[in-house]
Amino acid sequence: MKKAISLFLAAVMLLVCVSLTACVPDLPEGEIHIVAANFAGYDFAAEIIGRDNTRVSLTFLSAGDAHSFNPTYGDIAKIQNADLFIYVGGESDHALDSVLSGVKDEAIFKMIDCVELLAIEEEHGEDTHSHEYDEHVWTSPYHAALIVQALSKKLCEIDPDGAEDYRENTAEYLNKLNALDADFQAMFDSVEDPMLVMGDRFPFLYFANRYGFSYEAAFPSCSSASEPSPQRVIELVELVKKEKISTVFYMESGNHSVADRIAAEGGAVTALLHACHKVTPEEMQSGTTYLSLMRQNYTAIRASLGLLD
Ligand SMILES: [Zn+2]
Repeated sequence: MKKAISLFLAAVMLLVCVSLTACVPDLPEGEIHIVAANFAGYDFAAEIIGRDNTRVSLTFLSAGDAHSFNPTYGDIAKIQNADLFIYVGGESDHALDSVLSGVKDEAIFKMIDCVELLAIEEEHGEDTHSHEYDEHVWTSPYHAALIVQALSKKLCEIDPDGAEDYRENTAEYLNKLNALDADFQAMFDSVEDPMLVMGDRFPFLYFANRYGFSYEAAFPSCSSASEPSPQRVIELVELVKKEKISTVFYMESGNHSVADRIAAEGGAVTALLHACHKVTPEEMQSGTTYLSLMRQNYTAIRASLGLLD
């Protein structure tokens, strides 16, 4: 019997080995391999190394969620063979703990290590989220700039030959992020008591914290709940009416039926506020960037505050 079990185990081991070999990473050409599991992190790296850099390969593992990444076997091999793996690194990413246990610290970049973390402010009813801090650290250009600075330093260490170019690209990119940051600040400062209503989750805590507007949302942070309580919907409809809110925002993932309902009953329109969580393959293909999405947000918020020329 024992022999049968060990034979069986040997067969299993063989199968595992075969399937792992089948998953040996087919990383693109290049001397340095960077892998990212978050769109913003990927895009920041692309800006720093230069989008036409052929010496460095940059791979976006798009299969997972922005910050609760569930890697496939192929992803695991890519991550473990990369010179640098970029991810959010919050509690939601625990599926990666075992994957990263054998990877040396120098090859790991956590976005949450770059900013001062903010506690999640509200918890509604049945929300099951147990995070103490908000993980959406990339959602304000100000915080994005902090991440970019740290990532640039890291990339210069990993690839000293490219360091000069990276520093130049970083300086240029930081100028753009800082300009966007100033535009957002000026916009919110130009309105008395600006308020945003989100008929959706609210992954914009860092954004709100930076620019100092008030907000109300159907769900806190990145709640997995899909239906707010009727009470919460009524509260938001009343708020929209009372404060004459023109726009109820929704985010890029999932449906926006809650926002639609609040807007319809409150006499408002709906608009997208992109949290740069999820980017479709079509958007990737057409050259969507963190900056382009944030510029769209800027225009959408300007319109919602009645500031469009
Ligand atoms: Zn989220």
